[in-house]
Amino acid sequence: MQFWDFHTHQARSTGAIQNAVWDQTPLTGYFSLGFHPWFLEENWQEHYRKLEQLATSEKRLLAIGEAGFDRIKGPELDLQKTAFSAQAQLAYSLGIPLILHCVKAHDLLLEFLKTAPKKLPSIIWHGWNLKPELAKQLLDFPVCFSFGRHLLSPESNATKWLEDCPRDRIFLETDDSAVEIGSVYQAASLILRLPVEEVAELTLANWNRISKRKINE
Ligand SMILES: [Zn+2]
Repeated sequence: MQFWDFHTHQARSTGAIQNAVWDQTPLTGYFSLGFHPWFLEENWQEHYRKLEQLATSEKRLLAIGEAGFDRIKGPELDLQKTAFSAQAQLAYSLGIPLILHCVKAHDLLLEFLKTAPKKLPSIIWHGWNLKPELAKQLLDFPVCFSFGRHLLSPESNATKWLEDCPRDRIFLETDDSAVEIGSVYQAASLILRLPVEEVAELTLANWNRISKRKINE
């Protein structure tokens, strides 16, 4: 049984979607690529064409991202919004999800969801650890939640939201932590009161439902 890791910064040739770095896209395995708000530059549009080409031709690219909004670190918000919007359109046109990085900017995502055309991609809010109330506000939209190391803390917001989160919106990840993906699945299994094998089936089925680029075990 494979415990799929839907977002990791480690190089992994199997069982994971690696967050790729520009000009160093992995030679094996699945990956995601996008303009992370931390590294977004004024001239991002010059590189956008490259992202478009790669995303269209390379079927190992399973998702656009990380992309999103960050009020703590990154360029001015107008730039972030424009770049996010372009990447969301790209993900939508390819029928693949966008992996969201969102820091102190829940309102900006909500604004985007409400004002964007109906053509929204599936958006996976990765590293979710905000209050369940904030998660519920996103349920009218195609937003899923990816949970990581915070599930190891019983009192965390991540743990609280996983208990109530619609099951068809759940993903699991290690992100940049040193935690093993197996431990994240074990934690989720306890919280969801589901055998860990079923949690593994659930996240994989969730992926294959929201994405045109399927993961075949
Ligand atoms: Zn990450």
